[in-house]
Amino acid sequence: MGVKVQIVNSDVVNAAIFAASLLMVMVLGDALVYAWPKGVPTQLWALLDPPVHWVLALLIVSPLLSHPVLGRHLWLWVAVATVAAVLVDLDHFIAARSFSLADALALGSRPFAHSLLFVVAMAVVTWLVSREPVGALLVLVVLLSHIVRDGSHGGIPLWWPARGNVDIAVPLYYVLEIGLGWVVLWAAGRPSPAAWFTWIGTLLGR
Ligand SMILES: [Zn+2]
Repeated sequence: MGVKVQIVNSDVVNAAIFAASLLMVMVLGDALVYAWPKGVPTQLWALLDPPVHWVLALLIVSPLLSHPVLGRHLWLWVAVATVAAVLVDLDHFIAARSFSLADALALGSRPFAHSLLFVVAMAVVTWLVSREPVGALLVLVVLLSHIVRDGSHGGIPLWWPARGNVDIAVPLYYVLEIGLGWVVLWAAGRPSPAAWFTWIGTLLGR
């Protein structure tokens, strides 16, 4: 006669593992990007920032990528997430009116694309073009994950076009990103263990 003991609900385990994975990416990513000695040129370590944004964004939306609606055009949505996570920083070059990385980094503060208005607008555009609310959520979360991370290092113009730079304390950045991840996990409706790895399997299976 077997006794089945369920210590904790698998949803809770799932959410905890997801949070731990996100925390690991954030801590390692910040160590990689922000821990350089003063002597190293800013342009060099600034190039490490986009890959960290990308990994964090893909991890945070991974439960959505396993959603059947996005699974139909998985590569397209991975590409959309990639573009959204990385190309949002092109606003630096637009604001600096220059193709030079040095000029883009010399701006006093981050430009307009790092605002709530831009993030919501891009999600609406995605919804209008794709007619997929899940796709709009994907873009919303990818861009939010980007600006929240930037907010923890140098601040962001969150309320643009209103003036002001909003700084997010590093612990709050961790909490916000994990909270965002949990919203995604819940919205994806796939609370089975390791649901966020499903899309990797789907990718490899193609
Ligand atoms: Zn940025």
